[in-house]
Amino acid sequence: MTLTESNPIPSFEENLKFFQAFPIDLQRIYPRSFCSRNGLFYGMIRTGAGKKLAVIGEKEALLKDPFEGKIFNQASSLKLCDLSRGNTLSLMALFPFTRPVPVLKEAMTIGTGDRLGLATPGHIRSVRKFQVRPVFAQQSVRENGQTGRNFNEVIADAAWSVFQENYREGYGADGDHLKSMEEINQALDSGVSMITLDLSEKLSLEAYLLPGEAIGRRFDEEIERGDAEVFLHLYLDKEFSFRGPRGDLSIRFSEEEVKRNLLLFHRAIDFSEEVYEFLSRRSGRKPLIDFEISIDEIPFPTSPATHLFLMIALRHRGVRIDSLAPRFIGEFQKGIDYRGEIPAFREQFYQHVLIAQHYGNYKLSIHSGSDKFTVFPHIGEITRGKIHLKTAGTSWLEAVRLIAQTNPSLYREMHLQALSAFGEASKHYQVTTDLSSIPQIETLSDPELPDLLNLEGARQLLHITYGFLLRSKLREKIFATLTQYEEDYATLLETHIVKHLDSLRARRRQ
Ligand SMILES: [Zn+2]
Repeated sequence: MTLTESNPIPSFEENLKFFQAFPIDLQRIYPRSFCSRNGLFYGMIRTGAGKKLAVIGEKEALLKDPFEGKIFNQASSLKLCDLSRGNTLSLMALFPFTRPVPVLKEAMTIGTGDRLGLATPGHIRSVRKFQVRPVFAQQSVRENGQTGRNFNEVIADAAWSVFQENYREGYGADGDHLKSMEEINQALDSGVSMITLDLSEKLSLEAYLLPGEAIGRRFDEEIERGDAEVFLHLYLDKEFSFRGPRGDLSIRFSEEEVKRNLLLFHRAIDFSEEVYEFLSRRSGRKPLIDFEISIDEIPFPTSPATHLFLMIALRHRGVRIDSLAPRFIGEFQKGIDYRGEIPAFREQFYQHVLIAQHYGNYKLSIHSGSDKFTVFPHIGEITRGKIHLKTAGTSWLEAVRLIAQTNPSLYREMHLQALSAFGEASKHYQVTTDLSSIPQIETLSDPELPDLLNLEGARQLLHITYGFLLRSKLREKIFATLTQYEEDYATLLETHIVKHLDSLRARRRQ
């Protein structure tokens, strides 16, 4: 291999020949990653000891290069570097396209949470086909607890995948469902480009559900007089009208509704303001990161009036958001299609869009957005593509599908483990899984196993138990199989996320 800038990308054969001359147990070369910088070549390979960054060049230049690794000397020298935290930071400095950036202002965006740290290459191949911007790193504190990772690792996995696939168009990193300042700080210190502030712990659900006659008294007790006056003035004796191509919307608030909503939201409004000001201070004037507010994990759907109430209050406090995740009507259960009346969803979704367009033109963010194929076309049509969709579990389910195809005995072990963990796991999710709808696994032949991933019951079973499986003794076998078949996993994911984006009517690239 000639190591000159004028020979920018070595061919696969050149690479192979080059690496085979070293005692490094080469298992795979990632050809898209190879590039040259400052007279050195950089690229990703896999050895028996995992993925490594290879730096190739003159020995003296390798010594000056910022990456830490082990140097092997031949005619040209090779440095093999671990994907450590320090090397990740060097990667981001030398190749800025590997660093997360805000993307939500772009038209269509999709969050493709990668719980395994193995899914991003497949996600990259799918989003390359569309005019969409990705949020490859997207994990909540809860998910990290389930998978035993932290924000640093999640972002590092995305950054190295972006380098491996040479994806230079920019990607986001979402600290998802953050509920406290401590969690927000952790996520920011790791370099997230997006905060999703989850207000659920600041909502007074109990006050919201009080009977009419109790609302006034509770309101007087709980809300300071100054606040009360300001808020009543903001909402009372006004008509909030919205015009749009599919009909108009008009909302009025009664005094009781104002009081009820303010009891529900007042701590959440204060908290949102505190967080927004903190983000603004941290980056000077305006937050330089994407800012989403989520209220999707509360026990009742967000009506358009409730959405409007919250946005008026936030704007009054000077809080600007890039996206809002309401809880939509019907059911967005994990890993399966939408359940509910489509016309009613369509009607109310449209009203949410009207409000969002009017109060800052933020996006609606669709959480638990995996596999909602019956509503995607409506969402795509009504928003004309201005939407943020979050998926994650569905990529884990594709990993399980791959295991069912390639390693049936491991799949059988996982299935039984999932069944035994189901009772505990189902306490944390809104699912209505009917375990009796899942065929007894002993009665199925190996070739029948992948079809389980097309059954709602089995999908939910394997979806909500991911944390138990990843923390079980099966962990190593799961990662070994997915690593062995990483190209097949990327292909499965590419097909699957493309199906999501086509269904949402995302625009294909020419
Ligand atoms: Zn959510």
